[in-house]
Amino acid sequence: MATGTTQINNDTILNVAQLLKENVGSKRNYDLTLDSLPLDETVVASNITARLKLTRIAHGILVTGSLAGEARLECVRCLEEFDTDFSGEVEAEFRPTIDVSSGVPVVIEEDDDDSFEIDEGHHMDLGEMLRQVSILTLPIRPVCGDDCPGFVSEFRGGDEPPSEEAGDERLAVLEQLLDDSREER
Ligand SMILES: [Zn+2]
Repeated sequence: MATGTTQINNDTILNVAQLLKENVGSKRNYDLTLDSLPLDETVVASNITARLKLTRIAHGILVTGSLAGEARLECVRCLEEFDTDFSGEVEAEFRPTIDVSSGVPVVIEEDDDDSFEIDEGHHMDLGEMLRQVSILTLPIRPVCGDDCPGFVSEFRGGDEPPSEEAGDERLAVLEQLLDDSREER
């Protein structure tokens, strides 16, 4: 009968040997914080907080709870990076690869593919599950906000301050226009 909440900072690996030995319905609560969590090759989430409840179920451990964090995304319109908050619900099953009492390997059936593994040492790594939940909560086509300047022009950002030469060119064009209008008269 463990009550209370365990705090975990910058770690995603839990030893659940004891919980696996307990009866179905036994629970553990965890408050987990991570300074950063890589979501893919380019996006790293930061300031992750997760309130998780682990429940012993017949096949393993059910993790439920909520997760929140921040991520820096690239706006699909203006291509500027911006920070956004995200939050989502967690519900995932972890299954042992080895029986905690007998030490016999557990045969995982094909249709259990969406569950996560508890390793031979009875450790479960929440990292991949938190990564997947985080990605699912983020927008597929992120836009920086209502005041997004919009699609980037091909020339934006490439403009140099007008140089002497550019000024001369403009003057030349103006003179040409003046010449043309004179000729028309
Ligand atoms: Zn934008």
